[in-house]
Amino acid sequence: MPELLRPLIEAFVLRPVTAPLSFVTICALIFLMLRSMWVSTHIGMKNVKRLHQIPCPNCRFFTDDFRLKCTIHPTYALTEEAINCYDFCAKNTTARNRKLNFPVYQRAESS
Ligand code: SF4
Repeated sequence: MPELLRPLIEAFVLRPVTAPLSFVTICALIFLMLRSMWVSTHIGMKNVKRLHQIPCPNCRFFTDDFRLKCTIHPTYALTEEAINCYDFCAKNTTARNRKLNFPVYQRAESS
């Protein structure tokens, strides 16, 4: 008896339930995948923007040598800790601009 009812149960009970359920599950998975990609891209862009704030390549104390990257702060040159480095001094600046790049306490002493 159950063998005879099986096609009927599948056609009238299981399919109307499983088809929308499958559709909703697939839509939810696609939504979660797109959301995950969006969040990953957003975090990646944020990290790239932050890393581009590292001023060391434009600093006159940067040696461009992997053995001693910076003569002032060799431990945190080219890292995120160097973003607000108070010893930053731009390369290729005139003497007047170089004075302006010095921290305030050094400017007062030099002038
Ligand atoms: S002085 Fe500061 S900004 Fe300049 S290279 Fe060293 S860590 Fe980077």
